[in-house]
Amino acid sequence: MSYLEAFPQELQEYYRKLFGSEADIIMQKLREPVEKYYIRVNTLKISRDKLIEELKKEGLKPKRSPYLEEGIYFEREGPNFSDDYNPKLPKVIVNKFAAESVYQGAQLYAPGVLNADKGIREGEEVEIRDPRGLLVGIGIARMDYKEMILAKRGIAVEVTLPKFKLPSLSELKSYEKGYFYAQSLPSMVVAHVLEPEESDVIIDMTAAPGGKTSHIAQLLQNRGEIIAIDKSRNRLKKMEEELKRLGVKNVKLIHMDSRKLPELGIEADKILLDAPCTALGIRPKLWETRTPKDIVATARYQRHFISAAIRTLRKGGVLVYSTCTLSYEENEENVKYMISKGLKLERQSIFIASHGIGIHEVQRFYPHKHLTQGFFIAKLRKA
Ligand code: SAM
Repeated sequence: MSYLEAFPQELQEYYRKLFGSEADIIMQKLREPVEKYYIRVNTLKISRDKLIEELKKEGLKPKRSPYLEEGIYFEREGPNFSDDYNPKLPKVIVNKFAAESVYQGAQLYAPGVLNADKGIREGEEVEIRDPRGLLVGIGIARMDYKEMILAKRGIAVEVTLPKFKLPSLSELKSYEKGYFYAQSLPSMVVAHVLEPEESDVIIDMTAAPGGKTSHIAQLLQNRGEIIAIDKSRNRLKKMEEELKRLGVKNVKLIHMDSRKLPELGIEADKILLDAPCTALGIRPKLWETRTPKDIVATARYQRHFISAAIRTLRKGGVLVYSTCTLSYEENEENVKYMISKGLKLERQSIFIASHGIGIHEVQRFYPHKHLTQGFFIAKLRKA
């Protein structure tokens, strides 16, 4: 099964136009999990050296990020077999969510099972495939075929050979104690680029589940105040729990549509707009559903947030705009829109990726060059 089957034809053409001969390697990389899986040390609670000691005691192999003092990463294991490997075992077909989890080393839980070959018995070796037929792992059935289709909970297959293996961290003691937050390297760069200061009025316009807000809080050592907004109640609830786990105390959560931000009547010194986007840069993608039409519609949607941010910033205030997507329209084209509205591009304090397409001051993270998710960061000032 070729990686190309994972991308709609129109999107493949879009990537070829935008990235030329690099489009194929980008698409191949998007299908795989990141090579280096990052976590952010929560320096409100522990130092990097101490956390590294703890993680080693828990049997892991943490490494120090060469870029950020609070960054730790783990090397991915795999691929353990090639795309066309056919072990010819009885098959279990799973939904996309379960397939993506197994693909990265998780166990297969019964709610993820869509179908299973008749006659599979507990203890039998099976292959696990996504609904399109991609082999994501091999394991030992812990239920018979009927039970794994019907059961609402429990491990259906103990995965012994996943395609890739990333460390599973959420059961660790150090996780429970709030010593770290799983966050990609590009996401970690964002809070630094904002350069938050204690006296600033800071607004995070699309904040949940709180990765970047909690990082800003950490850089401020829990001082000052961050106004964090999101329109999803569920995600805000999760964020509240996360902030508690991490010991973050300087965040005010607001449930609202941030396109209406100017109605709050606040004048902000710094605004972070980590915009809702087509998420084309997220890895791994077993298959992509978005098309160029979605890109255009999303870029238009993002401009409502941009306008609200510009109206809310004080003169001289800073806007950091980020996305986890690879398209031109949601990134550089929206930055051009900001410039047309009077914002000026600013130098970024940490610049470890590539320059933008036609814009030097913005940074683009590429899956094939930086071995990260696809990501974009721009920093602008209101003149
Ligand atoms: N910044 C977050 C972090 O680092 O953990 C991730 C934010 S995610 C990319 C985008 C967020 O925008 C989602 O949580 C979504 O609920 C929120 N969102 C989408 N439309 C919104 C709106 N109109 N107003 C406020 N938030 C919105």
